[in-house]
Amino acid sequence: MRRNRIAVLALQGAFIEHEQMLQGLGVETFEVRQLSDWEQPKDGLVIPGGESTTQFRLLNDLALLHPIRQAILEGLPVFGTCAGLILLAKQEDGHPRQGLCTMDIDVCRNAYGRQLGSFNAIGEVADIANDFPMTFIRAPYIHRTLSPEVEILSEADGHIVAVRQGHQLATAFHPELTADNRLHRYFVERMK
Ligand code: GLN
Repeated sequence: MRRNRIAVLALQGAFIEHEQMLQGLGVETFEVRQLSDWEQPKDGLVIPGGESTTQFRLLNDLALLHPIRQAILEGLPVFGTCAGLILLAKQEDGHPRQGLCTMDIDVCRNAYGRQLGSFNAIGEVADIANDFPMTFIRAPYIHRTLSPEVEILSEADGHIVAVRQGHQLATAFHPELTADNRLHRYFVERMK
């Protein structure tokens, strides 16, 4: 049987850290920079943090947006962090947004303002840990979930910061920037 193989969107942002974390779990990864990369066999997709507007523009320009969206809608497991979460969200501040739009969540971008752009916290992530290190970098949070299918996995400071909707997992923080691989392990195990 072939090993799990995960596509990591590598257009912009913190994708290398995800690859390292997944490889540390014995998972094969490959970078998606163009349509021919995407067409390789894969068991899951990671969308990294970075700048969601830039990632959106590149996804669109490279004709990756629709195939990726279609694959997620057809059940491909996906894990989005920070900008990745924003790209998965259907709404921003109560309005439909442009993106992959596969998750029933309403996000607030740069939610913590420019002053408090980045901070660390330790919190509970349901089913995973009660002491999970969370690194927020100009992070979004989730105003609200838009369907009962979305499970809230974590809240920080009264805001939703991690959710799961079936095969889709998203965090407002950056687990790939810590040494804690439990969320990645959870994603990989749930993909099977
Ligand atoms: N502020 C970024 C955005 O709006 C997200 C930041 C991040 O991914 N660390 O896309």
